[in-house]
Amino acid sequence: MYENLVNQAAGKLLAADIKHNRLPGAVLFAGPEASGKLTAALETARILSCHQTPQGKWLCECPSCLQHKALVCSNLMLMGPRDCSLEISAAAKTFTEAHFINAKYIDAARYLFLRSVRKLTLRFNGILWEGDSNLNKIGSIIEEINESLEQLDFPRDLPDNGTVKKLCEDISKLCTKLEDDFLYDSIPINQVRNMEAWAHIKSEEGRKTVIIENADRMQTSVRNALLKILEEPPEDVVFILLTSKRNAIMQTILSRVRTYNFTDRSLEEQREVITRVFHNDDFAGNLNDYLLTYLPVTPSEIKNQARIFYNSVASRQICNIDEIVKKCEKFYPRIELRLFLSNIALFMKPMLNSQAGSEAAAKAMQLLRNCSDNITLYNQSPVSALEILMRDMFALNNSFGGVFCAAM
Ligand SMILES: [Zn+2]
Repeated sequence: MYENLVNQAAGKLLAADIKHNRLPGAVLFAGPEASGKLTAALETARILSCHQTPQGKWLCECPSCLQHKALVCSNLMLMGPRDCSLEISAAAKTFTEAHFINAKYIDAARYLFLRSVRKLTLRFNGILWEGDSNLNKIGSIIEEINESLEQLDFPRDLPDNGTVKKLCEDISKLCTKLEDDFLYDSIPINQVRNMEAWAHIKSEEGRKTVIIENADRMQTSVRNALLKILEEPPEDVVFILLTSKRNAIMQTILSRVRTYNFTDRSLEEQREVITRVFHNDDFAGNLNDYLLTYLPVTPSEIKNQARIFYNSVASRQICNIDEIVKKCEKFYPRIELRLFLSNIALFMKPMLNSQAGSEAAAKAMQLLRNCSDNITLYNQSPVSALEILMRDMFALNNSFGGVFCAAM
């Protein structure tokens, strides 16, 4: 059990609790990003629905385990936002290279790619999206993805190198579109209700698992709806909440779940993950930085552009927003927008040394969140959203007598 969870003690605790039938119906995996929480949650789902005794052995080949390994299982519900597109690009590269050199690890690389795509598409389960106005559009993109994915799936023989590469590229593009255009940044209430209805239907395939990623990012009404479910959980369903901000989770929810802590892995351990999973031996940085190398625009270029924007506010001189958006390739995929805004937040840190600075920074943080919502939720163009942000930050800087100071 949990052999794929590299360097996390939580795996041993979970394995022991499952073995002794002590795993409660609702658990929380808390720990920093890229610490293996989703890997552990998916592995938990596999183990709990395994048909063999002893249950959930590594490399078990019972029908349920095979389905879970490929992430085509009807007793698993995966919800919540996640940046999937970089992992999909990284997995595509590992897979196409393994195919090209006819590597011994080709099957593992193939699973890596299939799973990386399904970690995204599972979030678009029609049951969850019932009643959503985007359901049809999403359905046709998913259909397109599945058609291509089928040609790469087991037990088929893989097509030639060129075809595999082309299929991976097509799938990656569709996935980026799916994630950027349709994946909500926080779970809508409708999805929690749909999930609840699903959870109450008895499954013939045994235990159901509901995984909720970034569980801290829920609106109040959604948290309350979830709390109700956790107070009277349906039989035979395990809820796994994931978060990198345990402090942001409501106390009432925390009291309903058992927390398993995931720790930050050392640089050495993260490099081991990069080598073992992505078969890249010569990347020197951490896992997050490795995935960021798959962004179309480099993180340092995004930081540069954020600095230009921020310094324009600080020096009260308008800058060319069109140019910034162009240099950041229209913030597509959206993770670039998050990086851009979080760099601006970092540039404001020195302001926290003064009372007025802290106040202004808190107000500016709200403006950054609005800007993100305007683009991701309300489909405003990045240029107009940044123009509004610029205008509002100018006004804020003026009303605080020029408290923003230039960043180096
Ligand atoms: Zn099994």
